[in-house]
Amino acid sequence: METHLFENVIFGPINSRRLGVSLGVNLLPLESKLCNFDCVYCECGWTDLKSFPKIHFFSREDIKIKLKEKLEELSKNKTDLNSITFAGNGEPTMHPLFEEIIDDTIELRNIYYPDCKISVLSNSLMLNNPKVVTALKKIDNRIMKLDAGSETTFQLINQPLNNRNLDWVVQQLKKFNGDLTIQTLFVKGDHNGAHIDNTTEEEINNWLEILKTLTPKEVMLYSIDRPTPEKNLEKIPKEKLMEIAKKVESIGINAIVN
Ligand code: SF4
Repeated sequence: METHLFENVIFGPINSRRLGVSLGVNLLPLESKLCNFDCVYCECGWTDLKSFPKIHFFSREDIKIKLKEKLEELSKNKTDLNSITFAGNGEPTMHPLFEEIIDDTIELRNIYYPDCKISVLSNSLMLNNPKVVTALKKIDNRIMKLDAGSETTFQLINQPLNNRNLDWVVQQLKKFNGDLTIQTLFVKGDHNGAHIDNTTEEEINNWLEILKTLTPKEVMLYSIDRPTPEKNLEKIPKEKLMEIAKKVESIGINAIVN
């Protein structure tokens, strides 16, 4: 299976429509993905539970040194930077020293790029850990995944590994009191004999109802772009994403199609 794993702790910068010039930070192992979801569309491939006991995390010190070197180099070359973005080979908040690493990042950002935002892409499953919530509240952009309006679709698309359900995720997201961005991937297809489609009218209506309770600052909508572990998936056309974005705007929430 073709998968896309990041080969370094620091990657980019890349141009992102939503975040501008963005420097990526991957806190997860380089040799395999580490996540508590097993999304059918994950470009890093299927989550392999057997690899978990062998997981090697980069140390807090290593990450700080690598980030400092890169920020120093970019600042010396007068490169613009709009965001330091935590993403990569899995769920960033699973690093055991996530909060401490965020503190280091804030310190370095304040030295080299005081106007640059810090962003984290997360699936919310670690939000029962108060240190993770505290860390996410310290940064500028909390970009949280919400791919479903119903429990069935949540289980089919995201396949959480620890018996979490959609309602639990929604309750956790309320901890940010609307100061968050929601990111939703739309997809259709089949997996293990079940049909997946989070673009049906019923699914969208349920998802909009959840958005009304979360009142995020913005919703980012996108579809698959790279090879997926489940091959029977279809990309949702941009026109359909625009149509869904209009429904989000009609409930007073800003929407952006990527
Ligand atoms: S949450 Fe992200 S990293 Fe984890 S399985 Fe889903 S797409 Fe992959």
